[in-house]
Amino acid sequence: MARYTGPVCRMCRVEQKKLMLKGNRCKSDKCPMNKKRAAPGKDPKSRPGKRSDYGVQLREKQKLKRIYGMMEKQFRLFFDRAQRMSGIAGENLFILLERRLDNVVYRLRFASSRSQARQLVLHGHILVNGKKITIPSYLVKTESEISVVENSKNLTVIKDALREYGKSGVMPWLSLDPDAMKGKFLAAPRRSDITDLGDIKEQMIIELYSK
Ligand code: SF4
Repeated sequence: MARYTGPVCRMCRVEQKKLMLKGNRCKSDKCPMNKKRAAPGKDPKSRPGKRSDYGVQLREKQKLKRIYGMMEKQFRLFFDRAQRMSGIAGENLFILLERRLDNVVYRLRFASSRSQARQLVLHGHILVNGKKITIPSYLVKTESEISVVENSKNLTVIKDALREYGKSGVMPWLSLDPDAMKGKFLAAPRRSDITDLGDIKEQMIIELYSK
C-alpha cells in the first residue's frame, strides 16, 4: 500500500499541531513545533485566514488520519465500517483505530512511534495469541495477548521504547508485563479514555464524509 514518504514533521506544521509522529524526538527540544514555525508556504507574520466549514472538517480528518499513519483509502474504509457498527460512528471510528495492531504495539511501548510499530509488525517481530501477524491494520480483539517474538527480544529499538513504560505505564485498556515483553488488550476503549490525541472533533469528520 502507498505510504507518505515526505518529511514527517511537515505534517505537524501543516496541521499546526504536534502529531507525535517521531517518537522520542517529539518530546525533545529538537521538535520543530517548539519553535512555533508557521505552516509551510505561509508568511510567519501573516494572520491565519478564516477557514470554511469544509476546510475545518478536512483538517480534523487529516489530523486523525496522520496520527494513525493511514492513507485516505484505508481510513475511509475504517470510517465506513465504523458507520455500519451499532452506536456512535465517531466513537466506533476511534475504537477501530485503537484496535489496529500497529497502534496496540505502539501503545504497549514496544515501539516509540506508530510508524516504528508498523515496521516491527511488517518484519514479523510481533505475535498475537502466539501467532505471527504481519498486517499492521489487523484488528486486535478483546483479551488478545500481544507479545514480541522470542528472537526479537534483544532488539535495541524495542528495549529503548520499553523504557517509556517506566515513566508513563500503558493506557488503561491495556496491561503489560515488560520483562516478558507481552501485553493484553483488555477491552476496547471508550472515546473518553483516549486522552492523548488532543481536541480531535470526530463529529466534523462524520460531517465531512456525509456530504
Ligand atoms: Fe516532528 Fe514529532 Fe515535532 Fe511533529 S511532534 S514536528 S513529528 S518532532
